[in-house]
Amino acid sequence: MQIDRRKLLSSALAAPLASACATFPTTAPSRTLIRGADLVTMESEGELLNTDVLIDGGKIIEIGRGLPAEGASIVNARGMILMPGMIDGHRHVWQTILNGLLPKMSPSYSRYDRLANMTYALCFDPDDMHHAQYIGGLACLDAGVTTVIDQMHAANGDEMELAAARGLKDSGVAGVFCYQMRNGPYYGRGDTYAHAKAVAERNQPPDERHWRNAESIRDTYFGSDGLLAFGIGLTGSVGAQALDVAVQEFHRARALQPRLLTQHMNQRAGTQAPILRGVSDLQAAGVLGPDYLVSHGVDMTDEEMGMLRDAGSGLSSTVLGEFNYAKPSVHGRARAIGLNVAIGLDVGIALTHDYFEHMRAAYWNLMRTETGRDMALSLTPVDTLHFATGNALKAAGYGDITGSLKRGKRADLVLLRTDRPGFPQLGSPADRIVTGASQADIDSVWVNGRAVKSSGRLTRVDQTALERKSSIIRDSIVARAATITLT
Ligand SMILES: [Zn+2]
Repeated sequence: MQIDRRKLLSSALAAPLASACATFPTTAPSRTLIRGADLVTMESEGELLNTDVLIDGGKIIEIGRGLPAEGASIVNARGMILMPGMIDGHRHVWQTILNGLLPKMSPSYSRYDRLANMTYALCFDPDDMHHAQYIGGLACLDAGVTTVIDQMHAANGDEMELAAARGLKDSGVAGVFCYQMRNGPYYGRGDTYAHAKAVAERNQPPDERHWRNAESIRDTYFGSDGLLAFGIGLTGSVGAQALDVAVQEFHRARALQPRLLTQHMNQRAGTQAPILRGVSDLQAAGVLGPDYLVSHGVDMTDEEMGMLRDAGSGLSSTVLGEFNYAKPSVHGRARAIGLNVAIGLDVGIALTHDYFEHMRAAYWNLMRTETGRDMALSLTPVDTLHFATGNALKAAGYGDITGSLKRGKRADLVLLRTDRPGFPQLGSPADRIVTGASQADIDSVWVNGRAVKSSGRLTRVDQTALERKSSIIRDSIVARAATITLT
């Protein structure tokens, strides 16, 4: 008798998985006093040593020494560093479950788009995708990323896409779920299909199914007050369509009132003919705005970045992932021009999820150009942290809601232990974070005042059960992907 391994394990795991996937409650937690931490406020107050932070109702309500503890649960943070939760300005969260399958530093990465986005992405069933987005959101929280701009481009059917939105929402991470508009795909499991045809179809204006499902996802999962908002990823890369067609898509997408419009704008090393249409065309057409967030944009001129700045738009440089691009990341130039810029992980399938490495890469990547080197040498550690906190949130249109330690701000916080051998003990708290902090140092994480990580572990989840389910899903995805042939 043939045994269906997936079925067997699924039923065996049913009970523990039910509790493992408990969703984070959306209600505000009770009052919490974080006592005696060294604060990196990312505000004009700078760094405050041995200081208390009182949070209540999801917000920071007081910062000072000797704050009253009445009615609050107390976290003794003496000797630890408290910083704002970080933001990822561009990530494909669904890929997290497949991380390691396609390392960026391997020759196989040259087939990234073909494998990740045109093959694996088509192999998720709704429950698989819910789980992938759920653990992808947890991976953000575990790494101190409390806000993520997710560009969900594994678009392949109404139910799967609805499940993607639900999975990220259930994880408890804040940010924007950007639903990718596209045309097709018109192939799937078991099919042999021409790769060039698939790419050409993908770059056509979005089909009606996508427009319908965008509305359905928005109405089903996104109200006006949630931590996770609804956004739209515009079709493909800028330049794949005529300008008037692209402009129509901007207008139709905005009619759905998304929190953000994100769009890839990139060129990989070795490719010919820039696919960038030019921000100037979009500006002349009047479609730039504060809700527009460009990813990469490594071909952009200073003038184009000035146009984005003047329109209140933002930029996400995915600095660690952009090392193989023909041109260096432009976050340094953007900062100098006054364009709000975030960093991001981008390819969750291929890179470390330790976000401190991405933050550090924002500094080192500047060394790739002479002008960037001058900029790097003028940056303070707090400036480098801004690429992953305050300024980054402004790039994503968050203004002053969160991103720093200040009375009235949303309590999105990261508390770091400092007692690991090798953790930098000299210098200011920001010096120490930028020099040597890692994900392993994170003791606690709060989102909207609720502890989602405590004593180094995610709260309310059974990590062992989650990983067992992930393992089954990974096996299924790889097996299904083997049935798709792109010629
Ligand atoms: Zn991307």
